[in-house]
Amino acid sequence: MHPELQAELGHCRNLPSPPAIALRIIDLAQQPDADLDATAGLIAQDSALSARMLRIANSPLYANRRQVATLGQALTLLGLNATLSLALGLSLSRTLRDGQSRDAQALLWRRSALAAMAARLLGTELGIARLEELMLAGLLQDIGALALLQVRPEAYRELLAAAGDAQDRLRRERESLGADHAEIGAWIAGQWNLPPYLAQSIRASEAPAGDGNCFHDCVAVSGLVADIWLAGDEDRAAAARLRALAAARDRLGLDQARFDALVTRMSDALPDIAALFDVHIVQAAHLDGIVEQARELMLLRSLREIQGAIQARSQAEAAEARARELEELALRDPLTGMYNRLQLEEVLEREFKVSVESDRPLTLVFIDLDDFKQVNDRHGHLVGDQVLGEFARVLSRLLRSADLIARYGGEEFLVVLGQTGADAALAVIQRILDEIARTPMAIVDGIPLYMTFSAGLATHGEHERFDSARDLLNAADQALYGAKREGRNRVATRDPVPPGGG
Ligand code: GH3
Ligand code: MG
Ligand code: MG
Repeated sequence: MHPELQAELGHCRNLPSPPAIALRIIDLAQQPDADLDATAGLIAQDSALSARMLRIANSPLYANRRQVATLGQALTLLGLNATLSLALGLSLSRTLRDGQSRDAQALLWRRSALAAMAARLLGTELGIARLEELMLAGLLQDIGALALLQVRPEAYRELLAAAGDAQDRLRRERESLGADHAEIGAWIAGQWNLPPYLAQSIRASEAPAGDGNCFHDCVAVSGLVADIWLAGDEDRAAAARLRALAAARDRLGLDQARFDALVTRMSDALPDIAALFDVHIVQAAHLDGIVEQARELMLLRSLREIQGAIQARSQAEAAEARARELEELALRDPLTGMYNRLQLEEVLEREFKVSVESDRPLTLVFIDLDDFKQVNDRHGHLVGDQVLGEFARVLSRLLRSADLIARYGGEEFLVVLGQTGADAALAVIQRILDEIARTPMAIVDGIPLYMTFSAGLATHGEHERFDSARDLLNAADQALYGAKREGRNRVATRDPVPPGGG
C-alpha cells in the first residue's frame, strides 16, 4: 500500500470507523472471560441492534419452533460466539453502508449482505461449524472497497466504472493505490482491532486460487455467488453464475447439483437477507430464469436419480435372476431337469471329500433303463423322451431331497446317496424298483407303458475304501453290468454284500 494512502486512511475523518457499540463488542470478543450476560448487557444498550438480534434469532436461519421474545432468550439461543459475530456484523453494517457515494456504496453493501448469506449457506453445505464467523467474514470482505469510496470517492468510483472484470479491477487498484481493496480491507480490520481471522479472510477474499483454507475459500466464493444477484441483466447474470459455479467447483469441490441447490436456497433466503441487513434486495425478473432453471434441474436430477436407482436395482435384480437361471440351466439336463454330467462331476467330488473327511459312507447308484431302445423303436423318440422325463420325476419323488440325481447320459442316471451305507441304499433302490415297475411311464394309445431298470451300487467307507470318486463311479458301473447280466430289473452291488450287511 502506498504510504500516503495509508496515512490518508489512517487520518481520514471520512474513513468509516466502527460505532462505539461495535468497538465494545470487538473488545468483549477478545476477552477470554467474556460471557453471554455481559454481551447481552452491552447489546441491550443499543435498541436497534437488540431488535436486529431478536429478528435473527426468530429467522428461519435458526429453525426453532418457539417464538423468541426477549433479548436474553435470543442470545441464549444463538450462543456467545454467534452473538458476538452477528452483533459485530450488524453494528458495523451501519457504518459501512452510509457514506457520500450512495449508489456505489449501496451496491457494495448489497453485495456484502448477499455474500454474508452465501458464505453461511456454503458453510452449511460443507459442514463448517463456524457459521456466524463465516457470515461476518462474508459481510466484511469488501470493507476495503467501502473505505476507498469514503476516502477517495471520485477516483475510486471512476476506477470501479472503468474496470472490466474483477481481475482488471484488482490490477487497476494496485496500479493507482499500491494495494487492492482486499489488502486495504485487511489493513483496516487490523486498525479496527477486529479478530485476526477476519483480516486473514478479507486478505484472501480476492486471491485467485485457494490457500487450502476452506473458511477462506467459502468467503471468496461467497462474493462470486453474491454477484449473480447484482448482475444488471440476464447475460451478465448467466456469466456471473458460471464464474461462481467454476469457483465453487474448483475451490470447494461442489458439483453442479449442489451448486444449483445453493442458488435455490439463496433465492429463498432473500427476504431474510433483506430483513437482517436492512437492504433492499428483490429478485430481479431476469434472475427468476436462473433460479427457476436451478430448481428445475434439481428436481429433474433428483427424479432421474430416483428413477436411475430404481432402474439400476431392477436391472441388477433381473440380471442376477437371469444369471442364476442360466447357471442352473447350465447345470441341469434340459429334458429331465436333473443335474447334468458336468454338474455331477463337481457334486461327486464334493460328496466324496465330505465322506472321506467325515468318515461316513457314501453310496453311488448307477441306473440304466432296461430295453429302452425298444421304446424308441416301437413308439418313437418323443415317447422315449416322455418316459425319460417321467422316470426322472418319479425317481426324485421317491428319494430324499438331500439325495442327488444326475442324468449321466441317454437312459442312464446316477444317484448319489450321502451318509448312506450299502444296506440302506439297497433297500431304497429295491423300493424304487417296485414302485417304478407299477407306475406307467407313459400312456401310448390309451395303453400304459411300464418300464424296469437295472441298478449297480457301490459304497465308499464301509467295507471298501476307494481312492477317488472316479473309482467309486467305475465300481457302480461294473455293478450295473452285473445286474444286466443277471437278467435286468434288479439292483446289484459290485461285490456280494456280506451276510448281515452293515
Ligand atoms: P439295456 O437294457 O441293455 O440297457 O438296453 P437298452 O436298449 O436300454 O440300451 P441301449 O444302450 O442299447 O439303448 C439306449 C438307447 O437310448 C439308445 C438311444 O437311442 C436312446 N437314447 C439315448 N438318449 C436318448 C434321449 O434323450 N431320448 C430318447 N428318446 N432316446 C435316447
Ligand atoms: Mg444304456
Ligand atoms: Mg438301457
